[in-house]
Amino acid sequence: MRRNVNSLRYSVPIRRQKVKMELGRKNILRINTYEAGRPIEEIKREMGLKKVIKLASNENPLGPSPKSVEAIRRGISSLNRYPDANAFYLKKKLAKYYCLEPGNFSVGNGSDELIETAIKAFVEDDENIVVSDLTFLEYKIIAGVLSRNIEVVPLKYFKYDLEAIRRKINRRTKLVFIANPNNPTGTYVTRQEVEEFLKSIPESVLVVFDEAYDAFIDVNDFPSTLSYIKKGNVLVFKTFSKSYGLAGLRIGVAIGSAGVISLLEKARQPFNVNLLAQLASAAALEDKEFLIKTRRQVLQGKKYIYDALKDMGLAYLPSVANFILVDLGRDGLVVFKEMLKYGVIVRDMRQYGLKNFIRVSIGTKKENERFVKVLRKVLKGKERL
Ligand code: PMP
Repeated sequence: MRRNVNSLRYSVPIRRQKVKMELGRKNILRINTYEAGRPIEEIKREMGLKKVIKLASNENPLGPSPKSVEAIRRGISSLNRYPDANAFYLKKKLAKYYCLEPGNFSVGNGSDELIETAIKAFVEDDENIVVSDLTFLEYKIIAGVLSRNIEVVPLKYFKYDLEAIRRKINRRTKLVFIANPNNPTGTYVTRQEVEEFLKSIPESVLVVFDEAYDAFIDVNDFPSTLSYIKKGNVLVFKTFSKSYGLAGLRIGVAIGSAGVISLLEKARQPFNVNLLAQLASAAALEDKEFLIKTRRQVLQGKKYIYDALKDMGLAYLPSVANFILVDLGRDGLVVFKEMLKYGVIVRDMRQYGLKNFIRVSIGTKKENERFVKVLRKVLKGKERL
């Protein structure tokens, strides 16, 4: 048998490899790495379990749309080719879907990438970005990686405080991120609040409305932010990761006036959205039925979990998204770890500074029932301690 010479020569145990942290930029050394929801396979391995459910990353538990799957099947034999650098076909579909022009769209490797591209495209080193304190962590993390200054505004009663954000904006402010609905709280800012806010800020400030969860909204006063893009200083982000069930393919969409979009397009990498993601997302836009089914499932599941939480005497934040932030009144990390032993992955909220909370995504009916059953069991166990 031939020996693998390379592995003999190079393999050194991790603990004996030199640590040269000083090579990192100061900003990188300071970064608290984003902790994603724990993957199903990892928990199966660690806990020796056969069945594990994941309610930790606000994904669509129904899977992708069958139309996306079919588009992927058809596209697979073209993987020797680079993807279309301009996502021509997808942008055409998006334009039709949103009644806009293809030039109003830029696509990214998830909306995560769009956050990065926007900061690179618009924010100079000596300018700042206004973010809220209890919101999607990537705004702060990416700004840190790119050495941009951030101004942090607290939420008010777990909700974005647009008035406080307005007061925080100064001469050096270039970008404001507003997650609406907000993750992890599930709260939202209203049409009226947004309208007043946009009227009150300088036009030199670009506002990003990150609407990853807009498909799940069941209120009448949610803002139609696409009507503001013509102002030129508003960008709207959408994603195929949540309602469309394509989190694994990574595709996000930025919508804005042609000028702002052309700047984003300059700052991105040429082949940032892969070939299968382009095909699958374009096909997903055709599947209205799948979206309706997804939405119905989320609304029903949310009601079921609300009722169960009330019954357990637990406080939670009413959510317009596909997840619920739950106040356990005790250490969330302990409960999170106990639930893992029963094969239920939720999100512990330490990285958000919410020690006593967990966030749970709405799953299928069966998954929601399992979540409730395991949470009851774990909490009862703790009471006996
Ligand atoms: N924005 C918000 C508010 C989110 O919650 C998330 C996902 N957790 C994202 C953006 C990133 O989504 P994507 O998968 O498109 O990168």
